Amino acid sequence: MKKEKLILDTQNLQRFIQFHCEREHNDVPKKEGTLQVHWEEKPLCVISYHVCAECEALLTYGYNRLQNCPHEPKPSCRKCPKPCYEKPVWKKMAHIMMYSGMRLGLSKVRKTLFK
Ligand SMILES: [Zn+2]
Repeated sequence: MKKEKLILDTQNLQRFIQFHCEREHNDVPKKEGTLQVHWEEKPLCVISYHVCAECEALLTYGYNRLQNCPHEPKPSCRKCPKPCYEKPVWKKMAHIMMYSGMRLGLSKVRKTLFK
């Protein structure tokens, strides 16, 4: 995995999880936090988030999987021949990616259309 790709994928992970959390976990208390992205043991950048505890755990889990991805180039996790996620977490993540992917994708289209 390339350095830039790791940053980008971690940012997307945070964006997608937070988007879903903001809409679907309305009544759950949320907290601010930061995720330190490392590259070859060195700190690379910090990504901040504002999600509930459950989503924070999911974000950390996803980041750890990303960082340890052995594939080069890394395929999209959805198309990975050997997904490293545990089944229940994988299902939850796939749901969030679909949920946010569709809505974020749509709002991007809308923005382009109505600019
Ligand atoms: Zn949440």
